[in-house]
Amino acid sequence: MKNFAVLQLSGCAGCEVSLLNADAWVDQYNLAYMPLVTSVHDVPEVDLLLVSGGVRTDEDLYKLRHAVQRAGEVVAVGTCAISGGVANLGDRDEVRELFIAQARRRHVPHLLPKSHPIDAFVEVDRYLPGCPPMSHLFMMVLTGETEKTLARTVCQDCGRKKLRDVRPEHLVGFQTGKVDPDICLINQGYLCIGSSTRGGCGAPCTRAGHPCVGCRGPSDAFIEKESAVWMKSIARVFKGMTDIPEEEIQTGLRSPQLALFLFQFSDYADDKATIRPKEKVL
Ligand code: SF4
Ligand code: SF4
Repeated sequence: MKNFAVLQLSGCAGCEVSLLNADAWVDQYNLAYMPLVTSVHDVPEVDLLLVSGGVRTDEDLYKLRHAVQRAGEVVAVGTCAISGGVANLGDRDEVRELFIAQARRRHVPHLLPKSHPIDAFVEVDRYLPGCPPMSHLFMMVLTGETEKTLARTVCQDCGRKKLRDVRPEHLVGFQTGKVDPDICLINQGYLCIGSSTRGGCGAPCTRAGHPCVGCRGPSDAFIEKESAVWMKSIARVFKGMTDIPEEEIQTGLRSPQLALFLFQFSDYADDKATIRPKEKVL
């Protein structure tokens, strides 16, 4: 039976909950380490190491370097491990100051200036994107069945109809209005970026009437390119399908609803963004 471990760095534990929902692995794989559910206090030698969370503190970095030495294969799991993630929000307001004040008093780990993706420090064999990744994708990683059988974009998973003759003139705010269950959310004026987001999630958000915010990251067409190319493509889709003024689209793409999520892709904000070979990304 294969051994695997889950190393939790700075994140929210959502990835772990999603993994635990994929109970099909329980009879086939031995979970040797995962602080959330096991009483093992150090990472043992394992075939597979799943790393969730970004590198936000000096302790994260120490644990990461220590754990990868004991692993046959390393998988970066979720937006935080792949792109820095939600822990970066601590730099946006007084949270960082509060944390630093507490750190001095209580000797909690020192913060690094930002939350880094793990491949800034260690070699990664595979990437499992999503916030969190869907349970069925965890199973694909564990079984090694990662050949490309997944949809290329969220649009392919979504199933909503794109209409040529329905062109909204303005954006509709998130979670406002009555959503038609069958029609593409862009036709209804919602800021959905599923057309350039990698598929495989099954589109749970858009099926439920909520625009895709891109948690799976760029699709294969964009993953090896700069983030500006990704953003331009999204704007082009809106130009082709709506009569919404360009400025309104640009403002929408930078609005808190979307920016809150896109902000987690901190690696794309660097001058030299990390380029991950698409073959390694599920
Ligand atoms: S743009 Fe969004 S709502 Fe429209 S088909 Fe694509 S994923 Fe579905
Ligand atoms: S629909 Fe978009 S936001 Fe929702 S899980 Fe899929 S990629 Fe993530």
